[in-house]
Amino acid sequence: MKIAILSRNPNLYSTRRLVEAAEERGHEVHVIDVLRCYMNITSMKPEVHYKGQNLTGFDAVIPRIGASVTFYGTAVLRQFEMMHVYPLNESVAISRSRDKLRALQLLSRKGLGLPVTGFAHRPDDVDDLIKMVGGAPLVIKLLEGTQGIGVVLAETKGAAESVIEAFMGMKANILVQEFIKEAGGADIRCLVIGDKVVAAMKRQGKEGEFRSNIHRGGSANLIRITPEERSTAVRAARTMGLNVCGVDLLRSNHGPVVMEVNSSPGLQGIEGATGKDIAGMIIGFTEKNAKSGKTQTRGRG
Ligand code: ADP
Ligand code: MG
Repeated sequence: MKIAILSRNPNLYSTRRLVEAAEERGHEVHVIDVLRCYMNITSMKPEVHYKGQNLTGFDAVIPRIGASVTFYGTAVLRQFEMMHVYPLNESVAISRSRDKLRALQLLSRKGLGLPVTGFAHRPDDVDDLIKMVGGAPLVIKLLEGTQGIGVVLAETKGAAESVIEAFMGMKANILVQEFIKEAGGADIRCLVIGDKVVAAMKRQGKEGEFRSNIHRGGSANLIRITPEERSTAVRAARTMGLNVCGVDLLRSNHGPVVMEVNSSPGLQGIEGATGKDIAGMIIGFTEKNAKSGKTQTRGRG
């Protein structure tokens, strides 16, 4: 097969591993920087150009689109879909999962376990917003944050009010969430491929830190997950419409709750913690499923 990997940096661990796994299996792989792609969207014959070349003949495209380039990255991916190239994850599914508000609304509609969550832009009654999610302590998040940045724990009602007011002053969309204290600063990353959790790890925040993000100093370890956690992760992936993703769960007193669904899960942490060849499994899944025009939307969404 001829495979395009949409990635800004060929030296990233995940990109390198995917290239390696694809080449090992005899495929031709091209790493393409989405921001350098330009597209012809006016004609009936959609094209993507890159460094003066018309990108043709691809059987599959593996998007590894960073949060900061979601807008343009999903547009390039959509163009590939219009050209009937099989996308490992569809542009619409990536957009769904990137928007925390949209993602949580969709997950709640399917009845998946979630922390009690409120959304606001400019509430006139901050008091009521805090009451709505059960009062302090609570977690306040910027809608567009990643890697734990923009996630704040407010221990008291007073602290919650000032953080909410500060975020409101920035004209940011905010998410206010019940604090799952019993998670103990840990979360579970489930790596889903197709309809299976193929690997899982526990990430534990460093001492005194409630955020488990590796970027915030957390560490990763192998973990056995329960059947309920397994099915929650698979249902979350299916709800987003993602073939490959990382589903983050917290262990709460009322069962597993979904934190977020990541459409470009990093491979380094999970391959390191589990010793599994996740990149190989992703290429294997692509081989089995890549058929011309096999997308739900074909760029229509
Ligand atoms: P980001 O997209 O920046 O990773 P998350 O929503 O995943 O933001 O939050 C980062 C981390 O903070 C989570 O992995 C989790 O460990 C912790 N966290 C977030 N929300 C809560 C919550 N409601 N209760 C307990 N811990 C939380
Ligand atoms: Mg996270």
